[in-house]
Amino acid sequence: MNDETISEMIIKCPACGIEGVAKSIMKELEIPHFGQVMETTLLCPNCGFKHSDIIALEQNDPAKYVIEINKNNLSVRVVRSQSATVIIPEIGIKVEPGPKSEGYVTNIEGVLSRFEDAVKKALNLFEDDESQKNAKIALNALQELKKGNETATLIILDPFGQSNVVSENAQVLEIPEDELRDLKTGFSIIEE
Ligand SMILES: [Zn+2]
Repeated sequence: MNDETISEMIIKCPACGIEGVAKSIMKELEIPHFGQVMETTLLCPNCGFKHSDIIALEQNDPAKYVIEINKNNLSVRVVRSQSATVIIPEIGIKVEPGPKSEGYVTNIEGVLSRFEDAVKKALNLFEDDESQKNAKIALNALQELKKGNETATLIILDPFGQSNVVSENAQVLEIPEDELRDLKTGFSIIEE
């Protein structure tokens, strides 16, 4: 993947509101078999705010990307736009887009690592027995998937079709009307 810095700007930080401190970096990336995307990163040295996003340079139809997570697919490239919901139904885990959600380019292993980090945060936040138990089960399941010992399904629902799973093993489906209506734009959550 080649990347090329397109522009850097110093702007007002959207988090702390201080003028002229935050750096906005825009890069155009060419992702093989996917096309051009724009990666934007905003960094504020004053308050530590950081946000990145990936925007496909073409507008697409809503799409649902489905691939089996197995030991042969761990390195499959995944593009997750800021507006996409990511689900592993077998583990009952789902990350929905929220104001702080980020677009990223990674692989399936990287998606699993992101889920692991989210579950570890939940372990620290929710101290009741039930949450602890569920989080530990999810964490163990994610680790087994990363080792290639188990299989599950990775589903990415993107109302703007700007995500992608770059593999001939991935299915790209239309999102049914009712499912599209239910796509949330609230905060990121982890389901039981
Ligand atoms: Zn700031």
